[in-house]
Amino acid sequence: MSYLGNISQGIQTTWKGMMLSIQYFFQARKGRKKESVTEDNYFEKANGTFTVQYPHEQIPVPDHGRYQLHNEIDDCIVCDKCAKVCPVDCIDIEPVRSPEVFGQTSDGTPLRIHAAKFDIDMAKCCFCGLCTVVCPTECLTMTKEFDFSTNDILDHNFSFSKMTDQEIAEKKQEFEDYQADKLKAKPELPAIKKESDVMKKPAAKPVFKPRIPKKK
Ligand code: SF4
Ligand code: SF4
Repeated sequence: MSYLGNISQGIQTTWKGMMLSIQYFFQARKGRKKESVTEDNYFEKANGTFTVQYPHEQIPVPDHGRYQLHNEIDDCIVCDKCAKVCPVDCIDIEPVRSPEVFGQTSDGTPLRIHAAKFDIDMAKCCFCGLCTVVCPTECLTMTKEFDFSTNDILDHNFSFSKMTDQEIAEKKQEFEDYQADKLKAKPELPAIKKESDVMKKPAAKPVFKPRIPKKK
């Protein structure tokens, strides 16, 4: 390419670049208005570069996005299914059984077990959502809360149990007393013979009956 051709190409590419920047500049001004990601043409509207003034402005998150877990503990029947299915063991439950039904969830499921502890370590969670799928009362859900950054990683361990230490101790004692009463009420079983007694007993000998010829 000639010397003048090079200059011409330089001017053209600079002009194109400037036009692109001006175009994005105006799109950025439009982009300040909130758009919902649920709209069909969201990604067309969001074309171009724009800055969201986070946290004052936030891009809406999808309805079925997987973010921070929440347990509506009053509806939790402490069945342990979520903890069993969790692939990274980040759900820690301490159940305390009750001698009788002590309430019911909002969907009418009877409550028989107290949740002395229900912790979810979101620092370990891989957001697979399996725990929410197996939950029989649908009390475990993934919220739209995505920003739960902290300075201390231990703060990512979220506790949902509402029980105090005193309540936990009382409920544990209540169940222990119930089990003790149940044992007392059981009829006593006959004493099992010792193995030595069984051995002492001579084995029954086969009785030999001689054949007596019939009288003619
Ligand atoms: S979303 Fe997955 S990794 Fe996180 S607590 Fe639930 S089962 Fe465990
Ligand atoms: S699966 Fe649901 S009801 Fe069962 S312990 Fe987990 S949160 Fe509670």
